[in-house]
Amino acid sequence: MISMKNKGEKNKHIGLKDKSALNQEPSVSKDTGRKTILSIVYIFVGLFVLMMGYFTFFLLAKSDDVINSTYNLRHDVLAKRIIRGNIMSSDGEILAETITDEDGNEIRSYPYGDMYAHVVGRVMRGRAGIEEMENITLLTSYSNSAEAMYNDLVGVKNPGNNVISTLDHKLSKVAYDALGENRGAVVAIDPRTGKILAMISKPSYDPNNIDQNWESISEDSDNESPLLNRASQGLYPPGSTFKLVTALAYMRANPDYLDYNYKCKGTTDYEGMTISCSNNKVHGNLDLKEAFSKSCNTSFSTIGKELAIDDFRQLSESLFFNKPLPARISNNPSSFLLKTGESGVKESMQTAIGQGRTLISPLHNAMLAATVANGGIMMKPYVIDRIESAGGRLLKGYIPEEVARLMTAEEADYLKSLMRSVVTDGTASRLNKLDVKVAGKTGTAEQEGKKPHSWFIGYAPANNPRIAISIIVENKGSGSEYALPIAEKMFNAYFN
Ligand SMILES: [Zn+2]
Repeated sequence: MISMKNKGEKNKHIGLKDKSALNQEPSVSKDTGRKTILSIVYIFVGLFVLMMGYFTFFLLAKSDDVINSTYNLRHDVLAKRIIRGNIMSSDGEILAETITDEDGNEIRSYPYGDMYAHVVGRVMRGRAGIEEMENITLLTSYSNSAEAMYNDLVGVKNPGNNVISTLDHKLSKVAYDALGENRGAVVAIDPRTGKILAMISKPSYDPNNIDQNWESISEDSDNESPLLNRASQGLYPPGSTFKLVTALAYMRANPDYLDYNYKCKGTTDYEGMTISCSNNKVHGNLDLKEAFSKSCNTSFSTIGKELAIDDFRQLSESLFFNKPLPARISNNPSSFLLKTGESGVKESMQTAIGQGRTLISPLHNAMLAATVANGGIMMKPYVIDRIESAGGRLLKGYIPEEVARLMTAEEADYLKSLMRSVVTDGTASRLNKLDVKVAGKTGTAEQEGKKPHSWFIGYAPANNPRIAISIIVENKGSGSEYALPIAEKMFNAYFN
């Protein structure tokens, strides 16, 4: 086909040339003119093809970047025509709104001060949080009414779209109050969907007066990092909450894990390193469930000694260590640094009990608890539920997204029974008196020369989980003493 076509074109061309030979002078200019026109046509066709190509590429690959670029001028143009929309909680509270003062100045207002500074974000001194993620949405007005067109013509601003978040204000307030003056973070997720119900980070800052206080906030002289969203960007040693991962690693390496038996003498030694159980407690004979519920360090560090490092690492990476989290919110990757040929037995033993060099974000730990709660399937966490017009019309709804099955249903079931035993017979027995059945794991992450971080991860109801939480209180003390009471308040608030 192609060769025939080429041939035809060639003949046609020769024919033209032959014809022009009979009538030299005028035909040369005619021929040149024709060539010029053809060249112009080719150039335009070429340009058109290039433009269409770029347009398609732009639509597919670049448009989001450009539209959402923090520094795009388009935002300024939109801001002149549209009053920035509201950000709402799932239970109808306004978390961010634009109010106009007596002089006609628009002021972005955050009714809850520093409570939502990280997740809802800000628009001054750089955008952050939902304010950044949905910047263009908030500055777009859905309206085809005559009134809106008239407003545009006469220069009156139309109201922007509203962003309805997944955040539960009642639950967030309880978490915020319970964390008190401590540094730390709380994350709550619906394990069935990935909806983020609460995300609190302290210390925080008040976005209402960030401009006035910018120097002290950004200077961070006390190393408090108030701008850091500790919930998704803070990285901490997981302490005993990591025993969840170690237990799964043990189960995969030992199909007869139900026969696990270990005699805890309170301490275990390896080449001059001693690992002790909390308060040097002697736990005696333990199966895997008992070792987990009592959070026995000697049994779990002994498990760590025997695990194949490559398998342990592979499992951790399948659970999203050493890579960005699959979440619709910015986050820092957790790290699992055990490596064959580089790590010794001592580090394996430390890693198995959540010490060593492993680091995890509170969001990631919440996702692990949620994955167990959801029968082994991880859902992608997200914080924006839907977009509505100012008049309340639904414009866009976000659909829950499955990340992957990270463990079999049988594995998840057994891990659930371990986490349940922590509440019925172990270190979180404080939660056993609640009306709702809770499952979880405490953690105390030791800090060199400082008080330990206090952890709790868990979910409820144990038999039909609707909420998974992760709590860290920095440099305070044991998990059962500081994180657990916060969990108690949150479960109480959520189910009553
Ligand atoms: Zn022990």
